[in-house]
Amino acid sequence: MSWKTLDDMDLRGKRVLVRVDINVPVENGRVTDDTRIQRIVPTVHDILAKGGKPLLLAHFGRPKGKRVQDLSLLVVKPALEAALARKVVLAETLEAAETGTEEIAAADVVLLENIRFHPGETANDPEFAQRLAGLGDVYCNDAFSAAHRAHASTEGLARLLPACAGRLMQAELSALEAALAKPERPVGAVVGGAKVSTKIELLENLVNRLDLLVIGGGMANTFLAAMGAQLGKSLSEPDFFDTAKDIMAQADKAGCRVLLPVDGLVAREFAAGADHEVVQLGPDTVLDDDQMVLDAGPDTVELVQNAFAGLKTLIWNGPMGAFEIAPFDTATVAAAQAAARLTRDGALISVAGGGDTVAALNQAGAADDFTYISTAGGAFLEWMEGKTLPGVAALGG
Ligand code: ADP
Ligand code: MG
Repeated sequence: MSWKTLDDMDLRGKRVLVRVDINVPVENGRVTDDTRIQRIVPTVHDILAKGGKPLLLAHFGRPKGKRVQDLSLLVVKPALEAALARKVVLAETLEAAETGTEEIAAADVVLLENIRFHPGETANDPEFAQRLAGLGDVYCNDAFSAAHRAHASTEGLARLLPACAGRLMQAELSALEAALAKPERPVGAVVGGAKVSTKIELLENLVNRLDLLVIGGGMANTFLAAMGAQLGKSLSEPDFFDTAKDIMAQADKAGCRVLLPVDGLVAREFAAGADHEVVQLGPDTVLDDDQMVLDAGPDTVELVQNAFAGLKTLIWNGPMGAFEIAPFDTATVAAAQAAARLTRDGALISVAGGGDTVAALNQAGAADDFTYISTAGGAFLEWMEGKTLPGVAALGG
């Protein structure tokens, strides 16, 4: 943990370039979910409190290096002003930010127009980064969710100015380090979701670091089928049977216990309220051709809950079933609530991430009790895969 934080920086009278992620969903010209905006508030407030002047750098959508009026950050400005309880001035061009209009000079907080309007951003062009660096004295990166990309505003700038992590970046890195880099043991994970193919590197990294791995969701079908089960029309990836076997062997070698479902909720159609039955699962299971496993069953839930009780740290990525359609959210909800309860009681450190995972934990009413919920998506996964994130590495971490 060698990165600096805002506490290490003298910001009095300094212009602070702050990379933030305010790439929020917008419908009919209005922000529909301001979570990402709320999460940068502590950083901006702390910079102001330390006498610094924040200039926010952010992307919005994928304009591919051209000015696209529909992707102007103007639409985000009102929500940003509401969250910060301050006026924000949008610098529409780099030139405006460089010459500094009266309005910009007088503003507490300046927001630079969509950084991806410039081709130099995603290309991490050194000249463009140099030009950005000219706008500030200090660089603060608060966009962990963009840290897996080596762009000018996420990586290049950190090499040109004194650099530090913002509060959200700091919280995210601390939580991830507590979960996987230096966890309190025993440490376990739930890895669920649809496919093995999208999470091979995650599984490989985790089995070499964890004491317990719970495999759930559609990917558990691939593991069971690789061992000989015939699971009808269940989601399963025959091309990855060898991968599944290989991961089991690696886990065995590394001393990581793997928990696969021992029963499941089986239906004949993928629909809410579909007729279903509980079926025991194992290498000898043979389902009808039109049957599919859509969720883990009650015995599995009990095994998982008991396993959680023996852990000090839990990482969660991917739901244990097709949680969007009831009742196939049952196992995910029950397991999430068990993890939430243990966390509330102070017995467990719980860290979760992934788009569908966050939705599922919210659905279970468990999200607030988890120690940390990452909204970083791709960056969270790459970190859990053991990859170096360029934006973090550039901070010296
Ligand atoms: P995350 O976004 O949290 O990383 P994933 O995208 O990997 O999670 O997986 C979530 C998806 O997996 C959900 O849409 C869910 O319906 C699906 N899923 C989980 N279990 C099953 C299953 N048994 N059969 C079909 N789909 C499943
Ligand atoms: Mg997903």
